[in-house]
Amino acid sequence: MQQLLCSIVLLLVWACRAQTPTFSPKADTLHAEDGGQIALPAARRYALLQQDTSWATVLALHYRTLVFDGHLDTPSRMLQSFDFGRRHARANGHVDLPRMFEGGLDAAFFAIYVPAAYGESAAAVRYARRMIAEVQRQVAAHADSVALAYSAADVLRITRSGRKAILLGLEGGHALAGSPDTLRALYEAGIRYVTLTHVSSHSWADASQDRPRWNGLNEKGRALIREMNRLGMLIDLSHASDATFFDVLAVTQAPVILSHSSMRALVPTVRNASDEMLRALAQNGGVVLINFFDALVNPNFTAEVYTEAEQRTGGNLRQLWDAVYAIARERRLPGATLEDVLNHIDHAVQVAGIDHVGLGSDFDGVFALPSGLEDVTRLPWITYGLYQRGYSATDIQKLLGGNLLRVLSQVEHAAAALRAREGVPAAE
Ligand SMILES: [Zn+2]
Repeated sequence: MQQLLCSIVLLLVWACRAQTPTFSPKADTLHAEDGGQIALPAARRYALLQQDTSWATVLALHYRTLVFDGHLDTPSRMLQSFDFGRRHARANGHVDLPRMFEGGLDAAFFAIYVPAAYGESAAAVRYARRMIAEVQRQVAAHADSVALAYSAADVLRITRSGRKAILLGLEGGHALAGSPDTLRALYEAGIRYVTLTHVSSHSWADASQDRPRWNGLNEKGRALIREMNRLGMLIDLSHASDATFFDVLAVTQAPVILSHSSMRALVPTVRNASDEMLRALAQNGGVVLINFFDALVNPNFTAEVYTEAEQRTGGNLRQLWDAVYAIARERRLPGATLEDVLNHIDHAVQVAGIDHVGLGSDFDGVFALPSGLEDVTRLPWITYGLYQRGYSATDIQKLLGGNLLRVLSQVEHAAAALRAREGVPAAE
């Protein structure tokens, strides 16, 4: 009887909190909010509240916050007849529309990922266009619950109507075939960021997992960066070499992003951002979006493990993950946990500042995820972890999506200012 009464009280507490949020965020973060419907199944919600009453506050905050992920690889699955509108088991993918609703993910950049093997070819551009068309087709088939977004204003309009907003990013820059015309054509096709490289260095920029060709960015690369600034295309420096990263910062007139990278100070791999890069990123006004990939957040992958893995690749770092996981199997190294991802967020906040960190899960692009973060339905547990670690509601809203939305908006404003200076009328 006492247990029953206790449960009723818990439910009442939750119901009240859900309607009257405990937090009143400052005016400057109010934009990063949406409809706020808590979509977690009732039984799960009830179980959480029994575990810890602070879940009432966390769920109310999570579901009314605009949660914006900078990097999902779901389009690669969509091109292989994955139906994004239907619920799938975790083994068949980390993200689909029903699970986006359950996890409270409101907006996401879908990676139009073109394998580096395509090189800088017309075939690479065709592959990108085929993937864009498939995303457009599947989004149109569920127009009542999802829409494509091309601007920060679109993201707000779509998510406030209770739908999910999908943006498109090109991964990587080799698919531009080195052509500013292709860059402009892909912008017209809806692409709003370019990950400059994937695992291979190419004719204008060096990658972190390949030998340098230019020691960063060459003149053709600098011209493409200026054109991205002019178009209002976000520049994504995940996968780029450190030298490319700093070369871009010297040229760009708008904030940049690292759409899916974690912290090198905690897991020392070239795919993660160093503290020096984080400080430069903060100066630039950009944002690092924390990758959940086990290889990038697992503290068991020490400098010694990575050094041995790099040696085993014989200098071909494109094979890095095979070597890392061969060592993990031999030594029976434990996998990462959700707490490890929170540690990477903490470190990024300590070094870059609260305004320069967000989420770039890499869901559907990785084969190993931390326990507790197995798919998109687990995002409320990130919010719970941040809340437990003492982050304020305002800070949590910045981390979950507000910072990325701000950068998107700033890049659009920078482009408008550049075009105005040139005397070119603003697009549309
Ligand atoms: Zn990637």
